[in-house]
Amino acid sequence: MDRKNKPLGDLSTNFWSKEFRCICPKCRRKKVRVSDLLLFKLEMLRISLGNKPIIILSGNRCPEENKHIGGHPDSAHIPTPAGKGADVKIKGVKPIDIGLAAEKIGGMRIGIAKWGCHLDVKPPSPSRFWIYVGKKPIYSAKIENESLLKFYKIVMGKEGK
Ligand SMILES: [Zn+2]
Ligand SMILES: [Zn+2]
Repeated sequence: MDRKNKPLGDLSTNFWSKEFRCICPKCRRKKVRVSDLLLFKLEMLRISLGNKPIIILSGNRCPEENKHIGGHPDSAHIPTPAGKGADVKIKGVKPIDIGLAAEKIGGMRIGIAKWGCHLDVKPPSPSRFWIYVGKKPIYSAKIENESLLKFYKIVMGKEGK
């Protein structure tokens, strides 16, 4: 393969399985499985936001780990058999802007939090949208950018940086 076009990551051009590994000790040797569709969307997201590295805060989660951290029982992070969700952040990009870029790409469910965004390609998709305060989703709707931005400002106030 041409060196220049060689994918860097072992999952896709920019993503490595180690980034998506469940963090619990039991999963250390387990094969990491991530939905190809999710990887494709994440690569598109990266390009659409200026090719800045996307930091994976949480990828796969086994059911035990998901329960442990208080995740939704039906979480897209749980591989079935591939994980369809990721929590991401990008240095220097506001979570709301990640969310809006993801919405433009389409076909993702989007959760916006202070720490970044939850993105997944689990049905029903596209476009279920929610905002978290702490762990609680307090707004859930089809994305309509104007009302979303207004709502985001109200909820996040000065912290919505
Ligand atoms: Zn695990
Ligand atoms: Zn998540």
